[in-house]
Amino acid sequence: MGRIQLDHLTKRFGDTVAVEDVTLDIEDSEFLVLVGPSGCGKSTTLRMIAGLETTSEGNLYIDGDHMNYRVPQNRDIAMVFQDYALYPHMTVRENVRFGLEEEAGYTADEMDERVEEVAADLGIEALLDRKPGELSGGQQQRVALGRAIVRDPEAFLMDEPLANLDAKLRSQMRAELQNLQADLDVTTVYVTHNQTEAMTMGDRIAVLNDGSLQQVGEPLELYHEPANQFVAGFIGEPMMNFLRGRRSKAGFAGDFLEYPFDDRLADVVGDVDDLVIGIRPEAVDVRRDEDESAPLGDHEYRMTVTVTETHGDQNVVHLTHADAASDHDVLQAVTDGMHVVEAGESVVVTLDPERIHVFDGTGGDALC
Ligand code: ATP
Repeated sequence: MGRIQLDHLTKRFGDTVAVEDVTLDIEDSEFLVLVGPSGCGKSTTLRMIAGLETTSEGNLYIDGDHMNYRVPQNRDIAMVFQDYALYPHMTVRENVRFGLEEEAGYTADEMDERVEEVAADLGIEALLDRKPGELSGGQQQRVALGRAIVRDPEAFLMDEPLANLDAKLRSQMRAELQNLQADLDVTTVYVTHNQTEAMTMGDRIAVLNDGSLQQVGEPLELYHEPANQFVAGFIGEPMMNFLRGRRSKAGFAGDFLEYPFDDRLADVVGDVDDLVIGIRPEAVDVRRDEDESAPLGDHEYRMTVTVTETHGDQNVVHLTHADAASDHDVLQAVTDGMHVVEAGESVVVTLDPERIHVFDGTGGDALC
């Protein structure tokens, strides 16, 4: 069992509200990723769960037991940090074993046996007699995981555990961590500011901004149905395009383009005046403008390519519009790698109404 419940948790440091009224129910065995920009309160939330910070308001429960006043050692959880927090003077064996020594009820032989078992699971048997200084970053991270796993806790709390690894190793360790978590079947709360890590690892993702929980959901739910403009912009790479404007007779009147609403969009927008429309770069269709005098359809616009970034499998195309206030890019599109449009080229861009998001321009809430 390892259900973790945050019930209206708030944490203040003097006048700073680091975490504000967060309610979150993390299920047993779930892999929950807490994600958000720097300073949004991720680490503070994790540290409250661990018992390393007190709570200012609200209640914390693990498996139904009230935790607010329980010391970290008695919460039956293990934490893994970004900087690994290994003891440099101890060998790997001693570091991993250290995780057990605080636990009552193990004989020395049992501890040794358990260390060997965990080392085998993590593929670090050959490193057991080395010191942390003699290990690569990835190996140190495995040892830090070993120290957490060895105790067989109810939950793992991980604070940016892969942040110090290079990109290739990070992606490899992401997959390993997911497999490990699935094998161990232990509730895991994983903090990152990296939305790719969140999307690929989490059973569910909780997005924080300015201490407040913005949305909790499965990765694709957040991607397709963001609750507000913040989540829409945070999840997805390249980020969603946003165009600001007002409700008009036909639908939406932006700074430089009109976007007619069909019945569905008109219905969800209702009488909200201040609007932002959003569309993901991969939902922006770009085609060569074969005939510049040809009339355009309802959701088509003539634009000019400013830059094309080629990534091999795909291209990111930056676009500007003749009526845009200044000459800056107004949209980004992702196109197939084989479909290259050059800087300076005139193109026809289609913004599919089925894939348009509309936000309340004042509060940022998603209208659809
Ligand atoms: P990062 O991704 O940069 O680590 P974070 O999302 O983990 O950021 P927190 O470390 O939880 O954010 O910090 C949230 C807010 O609380 C920040 O404004 C931070 O400056 C503040 N804060 C955190 N710890 C303390 C502290 N011990 N004393 C005062 N303010 C703090």
